[in-house]
Amino acid sequence: MTAVWVLGDQLSRRQGPLADDPDRVVMVEAPAFARRRRYHPQKLVLVFAAMRHLRDELREDGVEVVYERAETFGEGLDAYFEQYPGDDLVVQRPASHGSADRLRRLVEARGGSLDVVANANFVCPPAQFDEWQGTEPPFDHESFYREMRRETGYLVDDDGSPEGGDWNYDDQNRETPPSDYESPPVPSFDHDEHVPAVREWVADEFDTWGDPEGFDWPVTREQAERALEDFLDHRLPGFGPYEDAVLADDWHLEHSLLSSALNVGLLDPEEVVEAAIDEYRSRDDVPLNSVEGFVRQIVGWREFVRHVYRHQMPGLASANQLGADRDLPPLYWDPDATDMACLGSAVGRVYDRGYAHHIERLMLLSNFALTYGASPQALNDWFHGGFVDAYHWVVTPNVVGMGVFGTDAFTTKPYAASANYVDRMSDHCRGCAFDPDSTTGERACPFNSLYWDFLATHEDRLRSNHRMGLVYSHLDDKREAGSLPEIRERARRVRRRAAAGDL
Ligand code: FAD
Repeated sequence: MTAVWVLGDQLSRRQGPLADDPDRVVMVEAPAFARRRRYHPQKLVLVFAAMRHLRDELREDGVEVVYERAETFGEGLDAYFEQYPGDDLVVQRPASHGSADRLRRLVEARGGSLDVVANANFVCPPAQFDEWQGTEPPFDHESFYREMRRETGYLVDDDGSPEGGDWNYDDQNRETPPSDYESPPVPSFDHDEHVPAVREWVADEFDTWGDPEGFDWPVTREQAERALEDFLDHRLPGFGPYEDAVLADDWHLEHSLLSSALNVGLLDPEEVVEAAIDEYRSRDDVPLNSVEGFVRQIVGWREFVRHVYRHQMPGLASANQLGADRDLPPLYWDPDATDMACLGSAVGRVYDRGYAHHIERLMLLSNFALTYGASPQALNDWFHGGFVDAYHWVVTPNVVGMGVFGTDAFTTKPYAASANYVDRMSDHCRGCAFDPDSTTGERACPFNSLYWDFLATHEDRLRSNHRMGLVYSHLDDKREAGSLPEIRERARRVRRRAAAGDL
């Protein structure tokens, strides 16, 4: 008989092999996976509880589900094949590098066979990406995204031109909310089944980092549908304008909070994007820049990083073109280890929920590590462990490539920024012990000296980058004014204090 092997991040019943009315399903709940690193307890609760819910739903619908709880996949398969010798299994191609081969070996060693089929959690087939972008870097997101729009017809007019005349409305998506701004509340979910038991088990079983309380992520299809509906009803209109803003008192603004559900298959990318476009068409209050920005994140960035990862692994995981080798400072585990209001807040949010929004991830958590000189691998480990939506295929390109410029395979310049950016895009600086307008002196915002020191350190490599011309002319001004040595000394002190957990 052929049975569908459902992995913990492949929980869709609407696409892939589960959609084809399977005779038998096998799921293996294997804690060994979760022991590989210190994960956020909410991530573990999410995956294990979502698996158990899917098992129950399938059984209620009359599907035979063999649910093995075993330390490893191998042990789970031992138990399965003892019961059903010689079965053929079918699985969706895992997005993580090397996983398909590993799974096939495990199954074949036990006398079964494994058919690896397309992964339904993505829109763009590998062959299509390769035809458009080739298989070698540099990979270019903007051209990929336009091809995806043309191919899917999302927000494209009959003559093939982009709706509204432009492919991208990002210039309208950098607003700062007014002082009386209040974002719409986000939904809460009733977790009386599975989550409490899994939470207890996770607490007993695993070494984790993060707050196990306050778990409020969707773990069933019904909850994920409600999360999507709530986003469309209340936050899609404001998604675009405030996409890049960071507020001290608001952890979500108008972000969708859908990544954790998307990445385990509780939502499918096409349905999410098509639902957003339907809302745009049927309502007057959804601006094009919001819906286009949302579509771009999902059929653009999410798909793009998956394929870049596919081509750039295994080297991507260890890429470190800037030779950054410092350990992460303690503030990444302890928000109280810094007086920097923005960083303390972002780390605290990750600790509380396993979530921070995109700009906090990129321009605070990664920007600090980049300019501090932390190793891309140390930061990648931290992100992979800390977030509820982190899987190797998505976290690695985002952190190593976009976050800290460990590779230039798909980013043309580092996302390094000084306090000026943080002050413009957030309200943190107002309540911070550090001064965003000073570069030297004990009260100067650490982002400033780290930024200039970073540019000076990597001058040989980065000055010739035409996108960096302007910032290097500012560095020249500082050099000519004789202020660079003091700035660099301040950066050294900042690093020492951060490393000592006293910044
Ligand atoms: P929204 O802001 O509402 O965006 C909508 C959706 O677009 C997201 O749910 C996500 O599915 C998709 N998306 C947007 N940007 C990206 C991107 N760059 N890569 C992939 N998908 C994207 N995303 C993850 O899913 N898992 C990660 O582990 C992860 N790590 C990141 C690490 C760094 C350093 C950076 C800069 C980004 C990372 N992202 C990651 C991408 C992005 O920040 C998150 O997808 C997003 O913040 C999730 O919150 P949301 O659902 O509210 O997203």
